Amino acid sequence: MNASPKCLNLWYSCEKDRLVKARQTLSDVVTEHVDRLVERFYEVFFQHEEASRFLNHAVVVDRLSPSLRRWMLSLAAFDPEQDLTTFAERQAKMGDVHARMKIPVHLVLEGSSLIKSDVAKVLLANHGNSEGATAIVLLNEIVDYSMLLMSQAYVTGVAQRAKIEEAYRLFTLGQDVNVERESQRAALLEWSQSTIFGLLGGAGSAALKPISTSEFGLWFRHRASVMFQGSIMLNSIDTAMKEIDEQLLPTIASLASLHGPDALPLVASLQTRVEEIKFLLSDLFQSLSAAAGGRDPLTSTLSRKFLPSILGREIALCQQHGTPLSVMMIDADHFKQVNDTWGHAAGDAVLRQIAEVIADNTRTADIVFRYGGEEFLVALVETGLDGALEVAERVRAAVMGAEIAIGDATPIRATVSIGVALHTGHPDYQHLINAADQALYQAKKDGRNRVSAAEALPKVVNG
Ligand code: GH3
Ligand code: MG
Ligand code: MG
Repeated sequence: MNASPKCLNLWYSCEKDRLVKARQTLSDVVTEHVDRLVERFYEVFFQHEEASRFLNHAVVVDRLSPSLRRWMLSLAAFDPEQDLTTFAERQAKMGDVHARMKIPVHLVLEGSSLIKSDVAKVLLANHGNSEGATAIVLLNEIVDYSMLLMSQAYVTGVAQRAKIEEAYRLFTLGQDVNVERESQRAALLEWSQSTIFGLLGGAGSAALKPISTSEFGLWFRHRASVMFQGSIMLNSIDTAMKEIDEQLLPTIASLASLHGPDALPLVASLQTRVEEIKFLLSDLFQSLSAAAGGRDPLTSTLSRKFLPSILGREIALCQQHGTPLSVMMIDADHFKQVNDTWGHAAGDAVLRQIAEVIADNTRTADIVFRYGGEEFLVALVETGLDGALEVAERVRAAVMGAEIAIGDATPIRATVSIGVALHTGHPDYQHLINAADQALYQAKKDGRNRVSAAEALPKVVNG
């Protein structure tokens, strides 16, 4: 730990008796008033325009309040002569959690100053003598020391994530660009054909599906924004898509007849917009340069190191747009036995097969990670729990049904267990992973080769 406790001036300069009394006073006051202090903290921050974006009522009640309560009690009980290392480690861990949640450091400092002044008010009201004053200084020193340690961990965490985020961006640029370009061209074509030909061919307004939620639209919002970060062509595509969804399609839908004279110019405009998007898309891909790799070589799924930045980003998108996000944790059943019975190469073939099944049953905007040796984590964007359970069931059944070739020997079969969890509003992606992990554990316990869903707000101990 490189933080120096030099900022704890009072601890090392105060006369012993006075220090003991002040500590006791501080401890008594915090212990007695902690619930009210926590309550007031969240009252104030729910009103705070910026901070309220990070707060969800159920999550505050269930998780954040107990954490804040524990933190305040640990400050009041802090003794640098006893538990300096443990204290420092805890603060660092909290700093890291704040970085994961992308809470700006100035908000954390604002929170700590609110707590300092609230506790000081209680101390002054009840112990308006020099003991109270000493306790206030003591509290300030401890809180500031805690902030120092948290900020150090926070800055390190943010810097690491920024590096990884950049690596992911570079990686998406270099990976299978041609395949990606072709599949997105095809996705765009499919949408425009089913919309335009559907309209003219008599499907009527039923053919009017927004482009923003089509396969192409999802890919554009979740992947292209990372791949082509900073490109002005992204804004142009976004504008063209908005014009289609917000103006052209509603106008077409309001027409009495799709074959009348009013319809044709609108359909022509729609076609023009789609052509424009196609053109911009080609330009975007042309502007790419090759870049560093980052896929798992065995399964071609994403390396786990991208998980923090990608899930962090997806959760931020959920919070901004109110869209759902689900994850699946997929684990091969009795995989050790597969290796032991048919050899490691057969085990590898099973892993490749599972990855292929996952890819076949998810959309291009979904994100598949190799999470562990025989575990995959899949983020299903804009997908609620029911949708995620359907995908999981499809994956489970497809893995079970697949014959996996292993050299000349008879093909083998494998099964997977899957835990599914829906993002419940907690800004720390680790909670979502833990929930999926718990559901997976349940699926294993219930007999394997099955899908299990996480409870709405699983109780996971953190920090
Ligand atoms: P469970 O159904 O409870 O998940 O049992 P399991 O045997 O699948 O789980 P366990 O965690 O005991 O074993 C996982 C095995 O996966 C152990 C490890 O040797 C093997 N493994 C991990 N990575 C790879 C890999 O890349 N290739 C191969 N062939 N095996 C791997
Ligand atoms: Mg496992
Ligand atoms: Mg396993």
